[in-house]
Amino acid sequence: MQHSSIHWFRKGLRLHDNPALLAAATNCRRLHPPFILHPSSNRAGINAQRFLLDALRDLDGSLQEMGSRLFVAQGCPEEVFPHLFHAWGTTRLTFEVDTEPSACRRDHGVEVIREVSHTLYDTERVLALNDGKAPLTYKRLQSLLALLGPPEKPAPALTQEHLQGCLTPCQASHDGDYRVPTLEELGQDPAKVGPHLYPGGETAALARLDTLMERTAWVCNFKKPETEPTSLSPSTTVLSPYLKFGCLSVRTFWWRLDEIYQGREHSQPPVSLHGQLLWREFFYTAGASIPNFDRMAGNPVCLQVEWDDNPQHLHAWREGRTGYPFIDAIMTQLRTEGWIHHLARHAVACFLTRGDLWVSWEEGLKVFEELLLDADWSLNTGNWLWLSGSAFFHRYFHVYSPITFGKKTDQDGAYIRKYLPILKDFPTKYIYEPWKAPQAVQERAGCLVGTHYPQPIVEHGVASKRNLGRMKAARAQKDTKREPPAGPSTVKSQRKKPKIEQH
Ligand code: FAD
Repeated sequence: MQHSSIHWFRKGLRLHDNPALLAAATNCRRLHPPFILHPSSNRAGINAQRFLLDALRDLDGSLQEMGSRLFVAQGCPEEVFPHLFHAWGTTRLTFEVDTEPSACRRDHGVEVIREVSHTLYDTERVLALNDGKAPLTYKRLQSLLALLGPPEKPAPALTQEHLQGCLTPCQASHDGDYRVPTLEELGQDPAKVGPHLYPGGETAALARLDTLMERTAWVCNFKKPETEPTSLSPSTTVLSPYLKFGCLSVRTFWWRLDEIYQGREHSQPPVSLHGQLLWREFFYTAGASIPNFDRMAGNPVCLQVEWDDNPQHLHAWREGRTGYPFIDAIMTQLRTEGWIHHLARHAVACFLTRGDLWVSWEEGLKVFEELLLDADWSLNTGNWLWLSGSAFFHRYFHVYSPITFGKKTDQDGAYIRKYLPILKDFPTKYIYEPWKAPQAVQERAGCLVGTHYPQPIVEHGVASKRNLGRMKAARAQKDTKREPPAGPSTVKSQRKKPKIEQH
């Protein structure tokens, strides 16, 4: 049978390693590839929306080069699909598996093909090996993956040949009805968008990957903890936004790294680049199986904590007005550029939660969801759980200092001076603690603390000590309520002493 296929682009905004798209083009006489924008279900801010629109335009361009096109429809998929199925006489629907709970799986009376290509492994297979439960440590995940062997190789990229005999009926009116909208049309003010440092799309993703992979020694020596949160140009790959939207296939990235590693000495997981992709897998597997993963209530792995309800503190943190220049510089970079280094995320997440402000990680999660270009439900949630000491991470007594942490890699405060120009003329001695500068120094720097830049909203030494006590109490309470041991599992028991893992 020759099908009339719809390939539904959700993530996976690419032609390379897209097995569901290839399946759509097989035995197919008519192909329609839509993307459904559902603005009201999306918390993404303006920078992330621009990234998505870039990615859609790029995808549309690539499809048009092959005589096809992208159909961008707006609305809720449940309502849009019946209409499209009818209008296009659809007999087959293909899409990439999405493990997020919001991703819908519906039977519309057409053949449905789902393919795994957003993760290295099929999370359902990983979970099946572990009695249906998420592995709660990285080591545990590694032992399960060892049973599965290396990830699958990427599928071949869609080419004109795959589309032989398969037509996308394009009409002039489609340019009006199904074109990629502008930021204005999504209700955004383009004047508010930040610098265009990371253009979206498969073309940009593959070009970025190629450039990075030319740096053989850097790739082989990559050790995440040795990369710098304060570096003025990124010290890690910044492939995360491309992986989030699937402009880049994680399997393509994995196997490109593998080629470089062949015959060379190289770093190992968890700190290597392969190791970073396994962290991604770790949190995807957790997100796919832990109930209520993105909230504290009803989440079985999450420490139950009575966080403070303090909208002023949350607002100050979000806006980069805490009075701690290192924290405020990071939040400014996040707001304006949409990407910050992993350890910078550590610093601000710890500060908001167990470190200083004792505000719930769920609030931080929402802010990151809006501001990050790479905001990814599973990764964002898993990392917030980790940093807030709510799950996975047990060294809750290790608190990042908002004063000394940044100094480790940036004694002079160049990073702060870049993102908080109001402080740029402070002497190095005071750049991390401007409130300690004598009045005359503040005057010479052209910035009076309390007038032009805020006083610290909490005293770190006092707040962190108090919060440590509260954390201990929450953990003690959990220990008294601890459930009986879990049943036997197919691999080794998960109930061991908490492990310290390099994250
Ligand atoms: P690289 O170091 O170059 O790593 C390559 C890839 O590995 C990344 O692109 C990412 O896909 C994966 N990776 C690296 N570190 C992690 C990690 N700790 N957990 C899971 N995957 C990882 N990452 C997101 O992609 N989306 C998020 O929404 C997100 N939210 C986070 C929230 C908090 C509080 C923290 C502490 C971390 C969060 N991370 C998130 C993880 C990590 O910070 C980013 O993946 C990384 O900084 C992206 O930069 P990169 O691509 O240069 O990373």
